[in-house]
Amino acid sequence: MSAPGTNWAGNVAYGARRVHTPLSVSQVRELVAGSPRIRALGSRHSFNEVADTEGDLLSLAGLPPEVVVDAEAGTVTVAAGLRYGDLCLPLHEQGWALHNLGSLPHISVAGACATATHGSGDGNANLAAAVAALQLVTADGDLVTLRRGDDDFAGAVVGLGAVGVVVSLTLDIVPAFDIRQEVYEGLARETVEKRFDEIFATAYSVSVFTDWAAPTMLAWVKRRVDEPDDWAPDQGWMGARPADGPRHPVPGMPATYCTPQLGVPGPSYDRLPHFRLDFTPSSGEELQSEYLVPRVHGVDALRALDRIRGRIAPVLQISEIRTVAADDLWLSAAYGGDVVGFHFTWVRDAAAVLPVLPLIEQQLAPFDARPHWGKLFTVDPERLPELYPRLADFRELRRRYDPKNTFGNAFTDRYLG
Ligand SMILES: Cc1cc2nc3c(=O)[nH]c(=O)nc-3n(C[C@H](O)[C@H](O)[C@H](O)COP(=O)(O)OP(=O)(O)OC[C@H]3O[C@@H](n4cnc5c(N)ncnc54)[C@H](O)[C@@H]3O)c2cc1C
Repeated sequence: MSAPGTNWAGNVAYGARRVHTPLSVSQVRELVAGSPRIRALGSRHSFNEVADTEGDLLSLAGLPPEVVVDAEAGTVTVAAGLRYGDLCLPLHEQGWALHNLGSLPHISVAGACATATHGSGDGNANLAAAVAALQLVTADGDLVTLRRGDDDFAGAVVGLGAVGVVVSLTLDIVPAFDIRQEVYEGLARETVEKRFDEIFATAYSVSVFTDWAAPTMLAWVKRRVDEPDDWAPDQGWMGARPADGPRHPVPGMPATYCTPQLGVPGPSYDRLPHFRLDFTPSSGEELQSEYLVPRVHGVDALRALDRIRGRIAPVLQISEIRTVAADDLWLSAAYGGDVVGFHFTWVRDAAAVLPVLPLIEQQLAPFDARPHWGKLFTVDPERLPELYPRLADFRELRRRYDPKNTFGNAFTDRYLG
């Protein structure tokens, strides 16, 4: 048992009484069955109170670090508390990979899936979309397995910790593949507007970075080595030029924190995340927000945000624009259609940042922007049923799995009802 401490960013001091770190699934079951209020904690990388509780927290990091590949089924079963970084290497050594990864390998698999964490790529759905099955401990301590196709599955995967404590996940895997990553500088803002679809369709994964102040943007382009393309070293792209050395997306931060660039091929787990496991991801001194809009509104949303750049830029470190493919997970930001994510890495000053969020939300409201569950937002809870058509079904699912609101917290009470 330990004191609850804070989230990774340090902006949330957990109000929980303590953190348990059970060493076995049976201990998890006992703890859950014996607690009136308890909730799973991942690697603490969310920026809001989604992971907090007024009862006890339960870290899954002490469970045996299971990684079991089923080559015939094309899946891997992993312990819930494992970080992507700890999963990808053993997977690679057996000739397998995950379809995509977020910007950092430091996050736990269960925590990332619970909030619909995503990477980038027109053809790449979020990380939770790879979940083929999950095993969770429900409020009375029962161990339940849900498989893709089961009635409750699509509701439970992006569960915000409110359905149960996930102890293991079975994920779809693909044969290992190599990526080469290239950073391009001087990408004109007008080009991004005019050739938006073309830009994001260029490669397996594309991220466009902007500080909303400079007239040009940066693009991180991650191409599969086994797919034909027009890539050539030193060649320009969309009117932008290849960077003459490795870069960090946050201005002023050392590029050594980042995965290899300059077109050097390497395994996907060491190219798809921007940040390396053994270094601080991003700037480390920050807050984050992200809003995801239907893909068709990408350019209009970009223009709408551009109109308030004067309010965004002064409190921003960097923004990232990414595309995410549709899925059918009820609380996923990409539920029902492809989306474009507008991400903001803010300065670590909540008093300066929080007033800007309603302005962004106002600009993006016409596009039905869904906020990232793990980042800061101020969207009115009344709007959520419009944004998430399956929210009522999710509430009903919770009533069945967690009738006494054992896994609830102030965040879920506010947003999920
Ligand atoms: C530097 C940085 C970069 C980021 N980059 C990205 C990115 O590229 N893309 C993106 O989409 N997001 C990104 N995020 C956000 C991050 O991926 C999410 O906040 C994610 O939920 C963090 O996972 P975690 O393991 O830290 O979960 P936590 O923050 O600890 O918990 C998040 C939620 O998951 C639940 N949970 C955790 N474990 C379990 C479990 N075993 N069973 C049931 N529920 C559980 C918790 O109860 C809570 O509701 C980034 C965050 C940081 C700090």
